[in-house]
Amino acid sequence: MSTEKQTVFLSGASGYIAQHILKDLLAAGFKVIGSVRSEDKAQAIAKNFGNTEDLSFVYVKDIADPKAFDAAFEEHGKNIDFVVHSASPFRFDINDVNEDLIVPAEIGSAGIFKAATKYAPNLKHFVVTSSYASIADAPTDTKKELTFTEKTWNDMTFEQAVTNAVDGYYYSKTIAEKTIWNLAKELNVNFGITAVNPSFVFGPQAFDANVTKVLNTSCQIINGFLDSTPETVVDESIKAAFVDVRDVAKAHVAPLLDSKKFNGERLILSQGRFGNQSVVDALNKLPALKGKIAVGTPHRDDEVAQELAKIDNSRTKELLGFPFVSLDETVKDTAEQILKVNGKL
Ligand code: NAP
Repeated sequence: MSTEKQTVFLSGASGYIAQHILKDLLAAGFKVIGSVRSEDKAQAIAKNFGNTEDLSFVYVKDIADPKAFDAAFEEHGKNIDFVVHSASPFRFDINDVNEDLIVPAEIGSAGIFKAATKYAPNLKHFVVTSSYASIADAPTDTKKELTFTEKTWNDMTFEQAVTNAVDGYYYSKTIAEKTIWNLAKELNVNFGITAVNPSFVFGPQAFDANVTKVLNTSCQIINGFLDSTPETVVDESIKAAFVDVRDVAKAHVAPLLDSKKFNGERLILSQGRFGNQSVVDALNKLPALKGKIAVGTPHRDDEVAQELAKIDNSRTKELLGFPFVSLDETVKDTAEQILKVNGKL
């Protein structure tokens, strides 16, 4: 039996979630080819991972180019056993909703899937990092009479999506995931496919070196409160679901270890509901922060789940078979890493 390591192609390797996936993949004994946009990013990631020879890089500058992945797959395709497609824009500071969010998400999905199908004859499984955004849009998520499962789809129209960045992002994730499932049928592929659909992802950066002044979009919610004062108003702008990044990483690796079990599945990663106030309450449990940051109205969001649609992700939990990290723990670990890096702990 061959003892050669199997190879995973991971797109968007510089990302917050992707570096946790990378950590788990290397720990599980895979070789990884990561796509990044620049040499600087490759060097920083390589350094984080001790310049291991199991990690190499290819340059994919802009996934909005339909042929962005062709050269990389043409060169490495024969050695690729698995693909994890994580690259996609998750930012709200954009100029044009279609050009900056929707096009790269949709074309990126199509580009990598077609390149993998064409150039990777040994591909066994393809995992796409989708989102809870592909399950329901924000207004529908507030309909408390509804229950969402792994079968639910966000049915937002393009016309609604282009009106603002948040709706645009939700739509971009939906169309990106649909593109994968549709192409799989159209091209009649013979490898397994899984979509991972995380809600808001919290938790520490994979490495202290990745803690920057402004963090990735989801962790910035917690980071922002670290700069607050006891007088800062805790607004009600966010009422959503959360999951810890380490659980998200595990959910990307599990399908590669058991393609048959996870083929065709969508995994809703949610450990429950939260609001800004829940984050603030969790932060105020930390001795280093108590009395120094926003307080808001403690416990105002304790019953936030009753105000929103129900999420039934029991199938996901059964398939994955591990318990998810709690809100208190994910907020604590996120905050303590930032405080430590900034010399405040
Ligand atoms: P992130 O740190 O911003 O990572 C995004 C990744 O995509 C980065 O590697 C980025 O490259 C790459 N990327 C974005 N636009 C690109 C383009 N046009 N061409 C090439 N690469 C591009 O965010 P993240 O939170 O880890 O998100 C990773 C994935 O998880 C995304 O698909 C996101 O939609 C999904 N997701 C995130 C959350 C969450 O709460 N964080 C929840 C659900 C789903 P650069 O580093 O070079 O910019």
